[in-house]
Parts: sequence; C-alpha cells; structure tokens
Amino acid sequence: MSTANLTREETAARAAAVTVHTVRVELDVTGAPDPDRTGFTTVSTLEIETDGAAAGVDTWIDFLGEAVEQVEVDGAPQPVEWDGARIRVRGLHGRHRVRITARAAYSRSGEGMHRFVDPVDGQTYLYTHYEPADARRVMPCFEQPDMKARWTFVVTAPAGWRVLSNQPAVSTSVDGGAQRVEFAETPPLSSYITSVAAGPYHRVEGKWRRGEQTVALGVLCRASLAPHLDADEILEITRQGLDFFTDAFAYPYPWGKYDQIFVPEYNIGAMENPGLVTFTEAYVFRGASTVAQHEGRANTILHEMAHMWFGDLVTMRWWDDLWLKESFADYMGAHATAAVTRFPDAWVTFATRRKAWAYQQDQLPTTHPVVADIPDLEAAKLNFDGITYAKGASVLKQLVAFVGEDAFFEGARRYFAAHAFDNTTLDDLLRHLADASGRDVRAWSRAWLETTGMSTITLERDGGGAVLVQADPRPHRLRVGAFALRDGALVRTGGVDADVVGERTVLDALPAADLMLPNDGDLTYAKVRLDAASADAVAAALSTLDDALTRGLVWSALWNATRDGELPVARYLEIVRRHAGAETHSALRADILANAAFAVGHYVPDAQRAEERRRWLETTWTQLWHAEPGSDAQLAWARAVAGAAAYDDAKAGELRGMLDGAVPTPEGLALDPELRWAWLAALSATGHADAAAADAELDRDPTANGRIAHRTVLAARPDAAVRAAAWRAAWEDESLTNDHLSAMIAGVRAGGRRDLITAFDEEYFARIRGTWETRSIEIAGRLVRGLFPARDSLDLVDAWLAEHTDAPAALRRIVIEQRDHLARDLRVRAANVT
Ligand SMILES: [Zn+2]
Repeated sequence: MSTANLTREETAARAAAVTVHTVRVELDVTGAPDPDRTGFTTVSTLEIETDGAAAGVDTWIDFLGEAVEQVEVDGAPQPVEWDGARIRVRGLHGRHRVRITARAAYSRSGEGMHRFVDPVDGQTYLYTHYEPADARRVMPCFEQPDMKARWTFVVTAPAGWRVLSNQPAVSTSVDGGAQRVEFAETPPLSSYITSVAAGPYHRVEGKWRRGEQTVALGVLCRASLAPHLDADEILEITRQGLDFFTDAFAYPYPWGKYDQIFVPEYNIGAMENPGLVTFTEAYVFRGASTVAQHEGRANTILHEMAHMWFGDLVTMRWWDDLWLKESFADYMGAHATAAVTRFPDAWVTFATRRKAWAYQQDQLPTTHPVVADIPDLEAAKLNFDGITYAKGASVLKQLVAFVGEDAFFEGARRYFAAHAFDNTTLDDLLRHLADASGRDVRAWSRAWLETTGMSTITLERDGGGAVLVQADPRPHRLRVGAFALRDGALVRTGGVDADVVGERTVLDALPAADLMLPNDGDLTYAKVRLDAASADAVAAALSTLDDALTRGLVWSALWNATRDGELPVARYLEIVRRHAGAETHSALRADILANAAFAVGHYVPDAQRAEERRRWLETTWTQLWHAEPGSDAQLAWARAVAGAAAYDDAKAGELRGMLDGAVPTPEGLALDPELRWAWLAALSATGHADAAAADAELDRDPTANGRIAHRTVLAARPDAAVRAAAWRAAWEDESLTNDHLSAMIAGVRAGGRRDLITAFDEEYFARIRGTWETRSIEIAGRLVRGLFPARDSLDLVDAWLAEHTDAPAALRRIVIEQRDHLARDLRVRAANVT
C-alpha cells in the first residue's frame, strides 16, 4: 500500500503523540501564469509539542508534491527523509518549531491547487480543494481532521490579482509585479477545510448584520462569467440562511467574513471551507435556467452554511463519522430551503431526488451503515455517497420526528456549545440529543445508523381492510394516504397513521380508496410498492393529484418497481407519456424525464429498444412544441430532446435547421449556448454534425464550457477511428483536465454505439489497475466508472474480480458497483422480454 494512504490507526497514534498549535504557510504563486512552471514554492512552519518522552518521538508530516528541499527543527537543518508522501521528523521532545521548504505542483485534476487558464481572456485562476486529504498537495501538514491548528496563510501572487483565504487579509505589500498578502490567523481548523484562491476574480460585495455582528459577504467568479452571475439572489439566500442558522444554533457565525466563490473545473458541488466556500461554476447559469436549478443552488448554499457550525466548528474525529457533518448538512439544506427561501417545496425534491440516490446506493453490494467503517483515506474518498448524504439525512428527518424539532435543535445547540473548535464522534451527538429529548436515541441509532439496506413495504387489500407487508422489517412510523377517483381525478379522502414494526401490520379505519399510498408524507425511509388497484389508479390519473409531494412519492414508487423489474418498463413509459407533460414541479419533472430516458436505454429489451427510442423522441418533441412559451417545462423538454436525439435521428433535419436559423424554434425558447451544444452533440452522435460544424459552434462560444462541449461533439462522431482515438486519449493523454476527460468519455459513449467500442472491452480490464496506481483517485475514478463496458454479459467483469482479489479495496468497490448496475440492466431487460 502506498504511504499516501493514511490509516485510521496510524493517524490516531500520531494525534496521541503530537499536538500541533499553529501552522504558518507561505505560498509563492507568482509564476502561475507561466505555463512552463509546473509548481510553486511552499514553506510550512509548524509549532508542535510532544510529550517529551526520554527516547524522543518520531513522527511524520504529510506532503505530496515535486520536491522537499529543506527540513529544519528549531532552526537546525535535518536530513530530508521523504518517501513521496511522508516527511520523517525524528527525536522530538517537548515543544518544537518545524520548518519545511518544498515545491508543490499545480493541479489539473481539481485536487490540491488547481490551475485554470480562461480561454476567453487568457487569465489564470487558482483555487484549492482538499477534502478529504489534499491539503498536503499544497503544504506540508498533519493531514487528519483531529489535528486542528491555528493557521496563518501568506500568499505571494501577481500584483492586481484578488487573493483570498479563510480569513480576511491583514496586510498587503506590493513589490514590482508581485504582491504579498498575509491573512489573519484562523481559529482552530482542520487541514481539509483551509483554503486559498487567487486570480483576477470578479467580486460582488454585500453585508449581513445581526445585533452586534456584521459579516462581510462576497460572491466571486471568473471575470468572463461576471455577466451571468446573479449575485443578488445568491446574497439574498445567504442572508436568509445566516439569519436562520444563527437563531437555530444560538451560536454566532464563527468565521469572520463569508465569501462564496464559483470556481472552474470543480470536482464536486461545493465545499464548506470556513469563510471561503467554493462552488462549481455549474451554478453560474450561462443561459436559461429552471426553477429546479435555482432551488438546487439555494439548497447547496444552505448546506455549506450549515457546515460552518456542523463540520467546521465541530468536526468528526475521523472519516468514519463523515456522516455526522454530511447527513446533518444535507438535512439542514432541505430544512432551511423550505423554511426561509422562495422554494417552500424543498422537501419534495428531497423525497424524490435525494432519496432516489440513497435507495439506489443502499441496494448495491457495497452499501454500508450510515456510520461506516473507514480504515483509510481511499475508503474515505469513496464514502461521499448516497448513504452518507441522503440516507443519513433521511434518517435524521425521522429522528427529528421522533424527538421533536425543538428537542433536536436544543440538542444541537448543546453540542455546539460543548464541542466548539473540537472533534467528536457519534456518541457525543447522541448524548446531547438524548439529554435534550429524554428519548432513547441509541436504540434509534442501532436500528437506522448502524444497519444497511431498507424495508420494502407493500400494501395488500383484504376485503374491506388492508395489511402492510414489510420485507426486511424495521420500526417505522408512517402514514397510508387514501385517494378516490372522482370525475377522473384522484382526490384525497383520508389516511391512517401506523406504527409498523413486524412483517404484517393490519390497518384499521382506512377509507375505501382507489389509490392507497404507503409512506404518504414521506415520513420514513423505505421502498414502497403500490398494489395492483392503486397502480391502475395512478396510471389513469397520476397527474391529477394536487399535492407535489404525493405525486413525487408515487413517481418514486413506480420508478423503484421499474428498476426492480416488477413494473413492466413499457407500462412505466406509458405512464410517463401520459402524465409527465402535466407535471408542474420543476425538479420532479426533470427527474421523471431523466428516469424515462434511462429506462429506454437500460431496461427496454433489445428487440423493442429502437421502437421505444423513437417513441421517446416523439414524446419529447411533441411536448417541446406544446409547452408554454418561455416556461420551465419548455426548457426541460428541450433538454430532453437533446438526450433522445442522440439515439435516433428522426429530428436531425429540424434540429440542424433550428441551429442554423433556417427553421423557427418554438416560441419563447432561448437557444442559448448550453442548449445549442447539447443539440449539436446529439447530431454528432447520429452522424449529422461534422468537425466543421463543431468548429463553427466553437467560434460562436469560445469559452471554457464551449471548449469542453467541443471535445464531446468531436469525440461523439460515429466513426470507429474517431471513437478509438478518443478512447486512447482518455486513458493516455495526461494533459487533459478533469473536465476535458469527462468530455472525452461522454463522446466515447455517445449514442449508445456499442458497436464502435466493443473492441476495447478487454483492454478496459487490462488498463484499470495500472491506471489506479498511476493516476490520482479523482481521474482514475472518472475513467473506471465512465468507460466501464456496457456488455451483454458479466463474463469479463467477473473474471477481473476473480483475478484481482488483491486489488486496492477502493478500486474493487467501484468495479463491483459498476458490475451491479450492469447486472441490474440485464436482469430487468430479461424480465421485460414478453
Ligand atoms: Zn457537505
């Protein structure tokens, strides 16, 4: 095992032996605009203390980079003992100052100090991203969350740039073409949430005031994106959130200022660096955007803000308790969005989107309890998943219902007060929740946080009554809703609350109904099956249900039954064709369209697939033309057309004509760059756009996004030689950034043209282990997931798994998950053969 993969055991021992007080980090990035400079100088000065045992303490400091040039202890040079990941420091007694001079590398993968050059204006931008353990790619440090330090960052950068870190600058001196910016010392902070950004970022300022406290707000993005930055809405949600959390947690915002910066080629949605939160640029809308996109951004803003307390102020001791911060923040993101923003339906989106992610992950062979066993960093990296976030948040929602909202927040307040600037484990939270509520939260924890999988709940009608049948039983408090068909519409007629514990629960007092919906109101975490009569009722009248959450739960039940091969995919698609056009909830609509497209591609048997693809294209096309001009629905259907048209060229002429301006577009549809590229990629995949068309589009949109889309359009051309070149570049061209790589992968897979890439199936399995060893985990993960062969057989993947039992556990986890997705596709297709 590489020494870069730190284990829980050895980091616990290090924390016991060494205390770190302060770290001063001096970075010199003045050379960043020069493409020939691969790295930069970094100097860490760490004030540490050991227990002074007579023999002296040997320890190590983490660093991944180009070189370690000098190691000094209390001013005396030491031999440099660096194995590429760990710098040895020996013979420590008591208090020491360790100073390490090193050369770190600029990153192209979004890990560490990412460097990006904007093709629009040639400007260079830097930002850092570390979670879980990439701070050591920028500075020598103790890379574990429980060794908190007070940090001082000093950054030397080109004059004229904006330079940012967690804290405000306290001094700036300019010397010729360079400026040296020193930032205020941070409160105690874990390494993975320290942060630096530098470049000619555009900034919009604001303020938030509450009693005595004033917090300076900043919203930043690249200069070329400034015209698209709707900072007013972002600042409004930021103020709403700060009001909400300050009250709810009864602890003033602890980090001074609050900057939110949208950064290029970002690997995740956002990261909760205190005082300098980083976000993906996907949240800066370059063209038309749906309500779901705005709601999603609001949710992310509030999720990250919740982390200022949960995660940053109080931090998990080790990555086993990653869920402590992520489940909590995920819950708070939805809770605060619904409570204080213009998106009161946030729990609908949670019920259908976040929970779908959790249900999917929880059925994989690699699922794990919310409280996971994370022996090392590679395992930690893969655990940012549907269990840690969405299942954890779902069960927290149940906990809030169980102890009551007041007691839950009271417990959180006591937890923050007791553990501010410290590290905790699950037990610490449970203790405060138990004290505040008087409930047995440990039993709840055992049932929900320390188990895997989910119950499947089916309703059986029994004469006049009904029975809930539970597979894989757990204790639930849930509601069964009753709805009757009246004049073709489903109308709520009542419902019954039930405590469901064992395998069979008889329901009394449930009114006769056409639709009976278990888990009405989404009170529990379980897979729900509709009985036959209820399925008939929703097939006829799903879109007449007036409550979005109810519709979302019905759609979720239908989708899960389709994924399990129990609801025929043809019937599912028929229900979509009949009811999706009437859906009014933006996120729910987007999910229905995405699931329908997925079902056509993955679950329809081979013999029917071409026909279903044509029908799906016709559906999206008809809906596009019937949608209200300029509406959210119109935009959603226009995007769905792009997905469908990549598999069937029946509309290629019209799409081509609309892009060329020869054919009118639907009234009110904004043919913005994002939509143009999406349609062009579809045309390319079906052989109706050549390189010249791609280049012409790039002339219209020569931005970073345009260049990424251009790569996909070129790689998507249905020519075996083109796909082969893209395949090879994806694996071998290490100059590709993270986003460039994903663009190439999308091209290789475009249009589901297996015939063009089947020849590479064996090569995939020959390559993945070497790739895992030589590329970063982010890049290797994109390749292993993205290029997994969608074969008609499990033969090759099973052979690889059998031969590579000794492969790194994290790589095996990804391969096992891809195998399971493929096995499900094959199983569901087989079940649908009639
Ligand atoms: Zn988070």
